[in-house]
Amino acid sequence: MKVLVINCGSSSLKYQLFDMVNEAVLAKGLVERIGLEGSVLNHSKGKEKHVIKEEINDHEKAISLVINAITSPEYGAIKSVEELSAIGHRVVHGGEDFSGSVLITEEVVESLRRNSELAPLHNPPNIMGIKACQKILPEIKQMGVFDTAFHQTIPEEAYLYGIPYEYYQKYKIRKYGFHGTSHKYVSQRAAAMLKLTEGKSRIITCHLGNGSSIAAVKNGKSIDTSMGFTPLEGIVMGTRPGDLDPSIICYLMEKENWGIKEINNMLNKKCGVLGLSGVSSDFRDIEKSAVEDGNKRSQIALDRFAYAVKKYIGSYAAILNGADAIVFTAGLGENSASMRLKICEGLDYLGVKIDKDKNFTRGVEADVSADDAATRVLVIPTNEELMIARDTYEIFKSGKTKL
Ligand code: AMP
Repeated sequence: MKVLVINCGSSSLKYQLFDMVNEAVLAKGLVERIGLEGSVLNHSKGKEKHVIKEEINDHEKAISLVINAITSPEYGAIKSVEELSAIGHRVVHGGEDFSGSVLITEEVVESLRRNSELAPLHNPPNIMGIKACQKILPEIKQMGVFDTAFHQTIPEEAYLYGIPYEYYQKYKIRKYGFHGTSHKYVSQRAAAMLKLTEGKSRIITCHLGNGSSIAAVKNGKSIDTSMGFTPLEGIVMGTRPGDLDPSIICYLMEKENWGIKEINNMLNKKCGVLGLSGVSSDFRDIEKSAVEDGNKRSQIALDRFAYAVKKYIGSYAAILNGADAIVFTAGLGENSASMRLKICEGLDYLGVKIDKDKNFTRGVEADVSADDAATRVLVIPTNEELMIARDTYEIFKSGKTKL
């Protein structure tokens, strides 16, 4: 009843080993600098930490080190891989092919390859992780849990862009949305915390981290989300601009004499609060620079960010016909009391009233609203790994091929 969760990036690999009897994390770790000089595996079991420095040329080697670490007699958490029920992989883009988690088959891998065009930076390393596990542990079932799946319930009127329909048919250009596992987890927790009646819940989930997105969740289903065809759309982020007039792109390319590569680089790495403040993409640095140094551009970056979140909350309250709860999660949402307060200021029309003392919390589940607030404001630490483990175990137990 043990499940290993794997999240593969191009040069990194995160893992967590769960005991599904009580959903406890038995061990976890991170492999960094795969294929680069100075590759390392940082493994932890409870408070014990182990650093394994070795040449790690590819994902296959990374996976074999992870297996060695979790089965190590010295610092492992299981005796052998036979204790593993299944392995769950985080997969970024399932396109329109997957509306839930699946058992990975050759057909699924083929579909992930097709969808790589939509997520060229993310899907290929996800596939590498899957292939490496299949090679090293061929007898263990592998499941895929998609970032996009939760948003597959978004209706056509919300996911279509106002461009010729043929481009949707030809290239599948539409809103997909991301952070789905996180939005699903926190919306489910919110419904449980508030004891909302099934089939009668309106929740706005704000995943605010380095990448940020907001979702409107009605009766447990995503009906809209701020990220779009790619994770560039939506609110202003750490280094991405969020919504912008598309003609700015053509205008800048012409003025700066840029090609696709240059404009893509700017949009992904130089915009957002980093571009506005000129200080950092990390909200801690920006808050510090605004408060301690009185840096005006840092203050504008924070104001612009809060404004963008507030606007999305308003538009999602409109499509949900009100809201039972607004949830804050991820690095900034879970930790920054001042940003939560700033976003929620002036939302009295929606019945939002933050209790400043309760709001002084970080990283734990809390209802930070005043007792008489009609719309509750909740802080819920996200747990994407646990969601992946749950889906993986559910498929394993039920013998189904998809959820
Ligand atoms: P994530 O992408 O969820 O890991 O979130 C990372 C972001 O959370 C960082 O860029 C920080 O800006 C932000 N963050 C984390 N802790 C704090 C904090 N205590 N106060 C403000 N921002 C924070």
